[in-house]
Amino acid sequence: MQHIILGNGPAGVLAAETIRRHRPLDSIVLVGDEPEPPYSRMAIPYLLTGNIAESGTYLRHRADHFKDLNIKLVLGRATAVDTGSKAVRLADGTSLTYDRLLLSTGSRPVRPPIAGIDLPRVLSCWTLEDARSIADALKPDARILQLGAGFIGCIIMEALAAKGKLTVVEMGDRVVPRMMTPAASAMIERWCGRKGVEILTSTRVTAIDAARSRSSWWSVIRSKTSNGNGRLKVSFGGLEREFDTVICATGVKPAIDYLQGSGIETGPGGGIVVDLSMRTNAPDVFAAGDCTEAADFSTGAHFVNAIQPDAADQALTAALNMVGQSTSWQGGFRMNVLATFGLVSTSFGQWWGADDGEHVEVIDEAGFKYLRLEFKDGYLIGATCVGRTEHIGVLRGLIQTRTRVSPQWKANLLLDPHRFVDAYLACAQAAA
Ligand SMILES: Cc1cc2nc3c(=O)[nH]c(=O)nc-3n(C[C@H](O)[C@H](O)[C@H](O)COP(=O)(O)OP(=O)(O)OC[C@H]3O[C@@H](n4cnc5c(N)ncnc54)[C@H](O)[C@@H]3O)c2cc1C
Repeated sequence: MQHIILGNGPAGVLAAETIRRHRPLDSIVLVGDEPEPPYSRMAIPYLLTGNIAESGTYLRHRADHFKDLNIKLVLGRATAVDTGSKAVRLADGTSLTYDRLLLSTGSRPVRPPIAGIDLPRVLSCWTLEDARSIADALKPDARILQLGAGFIGCIIMEALAAKGKLTVVEMGDRVVPRMMTPAASAMIERWCGRKGVEILTSTRVTAIDAARSRSSWWSVIRSKTSNGNGRLKVSFGGLEREFDTVICATGVKPAIDYLQGSGIETGPGGGIVVDLSMRTNAPDVFAAGDCTEAADFSTGAHFVNAIQPDAADQALTAALNMVGQSTSWQGGFRMNVLATFGLVSTSFGQWWGADDGEHVEVIDEAGFKYLRLEFKDGYLIGATCVGRTEHIGVLRGLIQTRTRVSPQWKANLLLDPHRFVDAYLACAQAAA
């Protein structure tokens, strides 16, 4: 059997290895369009701070790893899928035919429609190549502007701030709005402020231009001819300020342009619609990772959950089904873990709560500690936590195992949510 896997990120690699474990003789081709060994984007912040070398981002460290597993790596970009003839076309004009196809092409950064957003010194932080460009652009004491304070924005902030003076502009009214409650966002923002980062929320960048020094004709000529090597003049919130580098962290979208005309269903979030066995609507075509739109564990609504743990779970499920082992996955679980200048914040499940649910919230502003629990019908359905790392996996466990919280323990937790470990032990034992 011929398995073609498009995309060699964590989802593609894990799927290829899982297929090989179950099918020693099948043919497996892993196609990726970046000229790098398969790597993890998650490691890029550590590369930028210098904590690891590029090789530290690689998903597998032995040079012969894929060769030894008889997994063929192909450098190429998929441009079309024909589900009728079961073939994938690559940008170089070649075609690959499949018996089973896995789409695991991840996502790509999106940029807002702002004048000057494509100038050379406006960089994304998504690929290893981006990381090289950022490292190259960040000279000591650089003035850096970051657009966006979402998940990726908050993850890379520390690495950027280590290189210079960082200003963050976010058009929403708070940082990480799709991941944290308003009180938790406010705490993270205050913490970043203390670390010297200027964060401007409810602010839009309206234009970016190559800055020119009025006093120097030479710099006028340079900025016109050197493809933007000078500073960038950025307009936002009625201000005009100059920066050495602008980093764009304004969100991502599934990288599935090659599916146009294929008939493979995509959802309102722009991802490939999959069921809980990771099948698409096309026969023998599966999808896994950031490019999918799958049912939410908590609500059942389809959504794109662009985080690595989900990519891995989806890849395992897809691979097992591709080798004929019928299995299904429990749906996308929201599990956000963020470390910003050492302050760890987490949110799990339906952290924003339910209309007819109950919640408890404890805020220690001075100590930068926060905990909020959300209940519905005798279950913990969501949690948000800042400034605490010990035992927070228990919160995830309570939610994800749908452990019933007894009325007595719910009452205890509404009085003192910090007792969640005791609650878990008591309720899990009762359930057992
Ligand atoms: C800076 C940064 C920090 C992050 N930190 C975290 C974190 O702390 N926790 C977390 O859970 N997640 C984090 N993420 C997100 C995480 O990296 C993704 O969820 C994960 O990479 C998804 O894996 P994937 O295999 O689905 O997609 P990807 O890793 O994006 O891999 C997809 C691969 O497919 C290739 N491809 C795309 N289109 C084509 C095509 N047409 N033909 C061939 N190949 C193609 C891509 O080039 C890529 O190599 C971070 C991401 C970034 C950028």
